Amino acid sequence: MALSVLIIGAGVIGASLAGELAGRGVTVTVIDAAQAGSGTSAATFGWVNSNGKSPAAYSRLNLLGLQAHERAAGSAGGAPWFHQIGNVELARTDAELAAIEDKVARLSAETYEATLLTAAEIRRLEPSLNTSRLAGGALYPREGWIDAITMCTALLASAGHRGAAFRPFEKVERIDGDSVTTMSADGSVNRYEADLIVLAAGNGTRQILAGAGIDFPIVDTAAGGTRQMPSVGLISTSSPVRSGPRHVINAEGIAMRPARNGGITFTDLPTAGRWDPADPGIWTVPGTLLDRARELYPALDAMTQTVDLGLRVLPEDGLTISDWVTESVYAIATHSGVTLAAHLADVVATELLTGRRDDSLHDFGLARFANAR
Ligand SMILES: Cc1cc2nc3c(=O)[nH]c(=O)nc-3n(C[C@H](O)[C@H](O)[C@H](O)COP(=O)(O)OP(=O)(O)OC[C@H]3O[C@@H](n4cnc5c(N)ncnc54)[C@H](O)[C@@H]3O)c2cc1C
Repeated sequence: MALSVLIIGAGVIGASLAGELAGRGVTVTVIDAAQAGSGTSAATFGWVNSNGKSPAAYSRLNLLGLQAHERAAGSAGGAPWFHQIGNVELARTDAELAAIEDKVARLSAETYEATLLTAAEIRRLEPSLNTSRLAGGALYPREGWIDAITMCTALLASAGHRGAAFRPFEKVERIDGDSVTTMSADGSVNRYEADLIVLAAGNGTRQILAGAGIDFPIVDTAAGGTRQMPSVGLISTSSPVRSGPRHVINAEGIAMRPARNGGITFTDLPTAGRWDPADPGIWTVPGTLLDRARELYPALDAMTQTVDLGLRVLPEDGLTISDWVTESVYAIATHSGVTLAAHLADVVATELLTGRRDDSLHDFGLARFANAR
């Protein structure tokens, strides 16, 4: 009989793993408290990259993530959610340009594709950009962005065609050994059993495992974040535009990319805002980002259409967790999950089915946290 795996969470991580396992002949059931792609994956910038990440093992993991998306895009079914349009980083001062030059030299030495650009070269790549005040920049041609909601729904649909079951709007209340108890919005209770259970429940993981007496080392989102990264991030998307960025664009104070609605998606990440979601000041950020975008793209004829607050999934040291929690329960919790999803799905599927742990996961087990498990 085929192995049965129950996946809790239908974000980019759970949906990718469901697609991978169903493709390998596993009997898969996916449960989500809401719809597919409605957690952190619904409020992500979705930039696929390994651009300046540290430490080296995490940088490598992200590069493997990028390469796995490339492989998926080149496979028979394709990956139309992956827009590999390249990332252009802009420098408006000599100091910013010097920092970019250092980074490009470092990345090139690591064989990560990166090229310095003059303002004239940037103008050719980005015809609507006002390049008059640019000192230069760089192109990272293999980077891009992912439409995470399309990715989640498409991968779940393809898993469904291979026999996987999807149970939306069922909240996992308890894990007990190899059984899971859920409650639906109408109060009905269901019980599922499987050979293996995978937690891909993002910020819900900590609470589910607490119910089983396990202290799982991800940041309690109410606590604000880690030293390196705030837990709350703001993503805003404009109305459709006639002219705008052709690449992912990163500049001091703003990052933007084409959006799935024909507009532009912005993130506040470069402002390093440690936002308290209860602070009304947070709602001024989309207007500020649109003003900054107009400095770069003067013909921008857009208004803010949607604003989402995303809660980052943050292990306590900011890095990935991909490991067994008990003999039958495996957990994946990570920031940069959009970049990492396809690679993690591949190597975790192999680990679940064969017990063989991929080298790339060596530094991302639970053993690095005191008192975990
Ligand atoms: C502002 C922001 C910007 C980001 N930018 C990038 C970026 O540019 N590039 C990048 O690679 N990554 C980025 N990330 C990170 C990335 O979005 C996340 O790492 C990724 O979406 C996490 O996916 P996930 O599947 O683990 O979690 P989620 O998408 O949160 O999915 C977990 C699912 O589990 C379900 N769930 C939770 N609890 C339960 C329960 N008890 N029962 C049943 N279901 C449950 C939820 O409903 C949810 O659907 C960003 C994140 C944020 C917030």
